[in-house]
Amino acid sequence: MYCPDCRAEYREGIATCPDCEVQLVAEMPPENPDADLVPVFETADVSLLPIVKSLLDSAGIPYVAQGEEALSVLPVGRWGAGISQSGRGLAATFRVEEGRAKEAAELLRPLADGESPAEPEEA
Ligand SMILES: [Zn+2]
Repeated sequence: MYCPDCRAEYREGIATCPDCEVQLVAEMPPENPDADLVPVFETADVSLLPIVKSLLDSAGIPYVAQGEEALSVLPVGRWGAGISQSGRGLAATFRVEEGRAKEAAELLRPLADGESPAEPEEA
């Protein structure tokens, strides 16, 4: 039995979640796509987006990219022209399931450090 609210698992015979006071269900409800997602990477650098995506894709980690559309529709040349001085407002945030967050963070750490391992040095 599972609590649909806090997603805790309970033994058979327990009818309600003592924490949430809601009725337990026999099967875990489908994941809310926005629930339990934690941000693992944030960037205002649009050139990093495909790199982050390919890293997450190749690791098989599902992700949600938030703010990406706002980035991609803005002409690069206009950046800083009064839209956002800090760049912070244009940041794209990648979120993954909580259970994969650590893995994703490890994967993306080199990017967060300012390196771009997916782009080979020019020979
Ligand atoms: Zn509960």
